[in-house]
Amino acid sequence: MLIPCPHCGTRPVEEFTFLGDASVTRPTTNDPSSMEQWFDYVYLRNNPRGRFEEFAHHSGGCRAWLVVTRNTETHEVYGAVTARDHARAKGAKA
Ligand SMILES: [Zn+2]
Repeated sequence: MLIPCPHCGTRPVEEFTFLGDASVTRPTTNDPSSMEQWFDYVYLRNNPRGRFEEFAHHSGGCRAWLVVTRNTETHEVYGAVTARDHARAKGAKA
């Protein structure tokens, strides 16, 4: 599998460390009433079939945090953006 790093170009998957679902949103408060939101954020993950966004660290390259979009069935990679750009785009949608 090849990953299109925005800084380094297309690189082999062995250079990346994957750290899970990029679609979850961190709760914005530490209020005790938000404990259920924190539990969901920390422990609960979906195991989707198909298109999936996940965090990846280019640990064998530029060391940038990325969000890689791929298909979990076919392993086709649709693209990768920096985690910062992904967060900004996600914030713009909210
Ligand atoms: Zn890179």
